[in-house]
Amino acid sequence: MSTESSLRADIVEVGRRMYARGYTASNDGNISVRLGADRLLMTPKSVCKGFMTPDMMCITDLEGRKLQGDRDPSSEMLMHLEVYRQRPDVQAVVHAHPPTATGFAVAGIPLDRAVLAEVLTTLGSIPIAEYATPSTKALPEAVRKYIKAHDGMLLANHGALTVGGDLYGAYFKMETIEHFAKISLVARLLGRENLLSREEVMRLQELRGSYGIQAPAPICPEPGTEPTLVTRTEAGTTPTFGAVPDVTCQVVQAPKGDGLRLVTDPEGEIRLTYRELSALIEDAIRSLR
Ligand SMILES: [Zn+2]
Repeated sequence: MSTESSLRADIVEVGRRMYARGYTASNDGNISVRLGADRLLMTPKSVCKGFMTPDMMCITDLEGRKLQGDRDPSSEMLMHLEVYRQRPDVQAVVHAHPPTATGFAVAGIPLDRAVLAEVLTTLGSIPIAEYATPSTKALPEAVRKYIKAHDGMLLANHGALTVGGDLYGAYFKMETIEHFAKISLVARLLGRENLLSREEVMRLQELRGSYGIQAPAPICPEPGTEPTLVTRTEAGTTPTFGAVPDVTCQVVQAPKGDGLRLVTDPEGEIRLTYRELSALIEDAIRSLR
């Protein structure tokens, strides 16, 4: 079990790395860790994560009441509290605005295609939580839908959120998401993404166990199907119309391979440069004359 002083130092170091890598600008982002069974250690609001010192951190209870610290806790505290409520296994939460992953979140494109084995074994798929106004109750509500089945997600038009069994585990997932987003962007700019086949994805799921990586939820059974939804109800009550459903499996876009481990994306599109497109249009016009 890490001591409080070492966890304070770890938060400072993770904040410094996030800022140095451009995952946050100005005072963006926030970090928290569990401090024993009923307390959290959290970054304060309105500080640059690149220049924190260990004494700046706040200690709160799991309801968000400040127990210790000169500063007020993060403006996204509600989102952190919701994650700890939904995931007893989670020890740390990291939120940042890494630019490439956030670009996907702005474009509404989830990082859920089976492209890289390392991403599939560590995170599985990375969905997009619906847009919610930052720092309001709507944001934890949006996150709640996906958090039981995912260790990382994009936040629509906002950023990304990762969780882990310890602070560095949560931080490294943020690195993985941004790295994956950069690779996906390059592949899409080049005009093609070859995908891992469904069979290969299932093989990787089995390997997860031997790597000692616990998946928060299984891969959804069929490609392209909607995730299984379970209507959330209080104990002993009947489901009510409009209740927020939880996602309980991970949607991964992976086509059937018929024995192949890598398959050409059946829905792949070739993106043309402006010059190539103009030349095609000119040719078409010429042929009409
Ligand atoms: Zn944010």
